[in-house]
Amino acid sequence: MYVRMKKRNWLVWVCLIVVLAAFWGWRERKFIERYPPENPAWNGEALGTFYSVKLVGSRLTNEGLERLKTAIDAEFEAVERSMSVFREDSDISIFNRAPVNASVPVDKEFAGLLKRALEISDMTGGAFDPTVGPLVELWGFGRDGRHAHTPTDERIQAVRGKTGWQKLSVSKDGVLTKNLDGLMLDLGAIAKGYVVDRLAVAIRGAGIGNFMVEVGGEVYASGRNSTGLAWKIGVDSPLLNAAPGKRLVGIVSLSDRAVATSGNYRNFFKGENGTLYSHIIDPRTGFPVQMRQTGVSVIASDCATADALATALFVLGEKDGLALIDKIDGVEALFVISGYGVCFREATSSGFYETVNYEHLDSKGQTL
Ligand code: ADP
Ligand code: MG
Repeated sequence: MYVRMKKRNWLVWVCLIVVLAAFWGWRERKFIERYPPENPAWNGEALGTFYSVKLVGSRLTNEGLERLKTAIDAEFEAVERSMSVFREDSDISIFNRAPVNASVPVDKEFAGLLKRALEISDMTGGAFDPTVGPLVELWGFGRDGRHAHTPTDERIQAVRGKTGWQKLSVSKDGVLTKNLDGLMLDLGAIAKGYVVDRLAVAIRGAGIGNFMVEVGGEVYASGRNSTGLAWKIGVDSPLLNAAPGKRLVGIVSLSDRAVATSGNYRNFFKGENGTLYSHIIDPRTGFPVQMRQTGVSVIASDCATADALATALFVLGEKDGLALIDKIDGVEALFVISGYGVCFREATSSGFYETVNYEHLDSKGQTL
């Protein structure tokens, strides 16, 4: 009798364990179905370039994550709809075709970005000029793709006469007017940074504080990475046509800040005499900036500012560029200028090393 009871108890225990295990497995499966990995990351193509998003410690459900991805796609679509010169029906294309003095209404985001762009033009003495597009086209860096040639001086000066950020006005209620016939807008030097900022707002809006977002090399890093430290962003060596991240000169650690880089080592053509013509135009001369292979990285609290200033610094060059950055609060810059072979030289704004955590790497990518 006693033995039989013991046996039955034993059976009850086994059944209970089996039921519990099954329940646990079911719960786990449900959890996995409902929640994506804790640190989801994805990438894609938009605005003619690549983007990537990394989230850390997100408590989003799968549904929440899908909603965020849809919101991000919608941000790209909104920016393309208003600011892409590759779309005939975008607000920017409508403005570009508009006659002199015509009123072109745009949405408040576009108007806001243009106001910021004009402030940066003013701040940089016109080194950053969002009306430089006709010169970009003339030199073969525009919508029709690359055609390496040097235009005549007359042509350069004639086209330069159609540019000038001071010939553009943005009213308080978002109406654009050109005060010069043929004036056109090209936001290529600020749009990627701007969209990074918009994505950062969308991600924060989903309740996520730790993330990194990158569009075509322009980055915003928020909070901490998955190891609990500031995000580490590589600074590329200015080697001609090297893939991003292939050879780094250093690493910046960022938290709640943006970094953007401009350079002449990926988008350029070589003139007859071997001169490197970059896709960045000096609006003051109408010529592409010609300098040694150089990369300029700017760190700022928002990515649109970092992006536009990186382009401006590329035009201004090391001395004037760094002097300008020293006058702007909360912004730092690093020039990486190539020498011979794989050698390069760095020059920074005066507060760079104090305020930016920067690790130099040797030519093998090891910390120095
Ligand atoms: P990238 O697009 O390679 O990241 P930039 O941010 O410096 O580089 O933007 C370069 C683009 O900006 C050019 O392709 C052109 O469309 C436009 N651009 C060129 N020169 C200037 C300038 N001086 N000011 C404003 N925009 C410029
Ligand atoms: Mg730029």
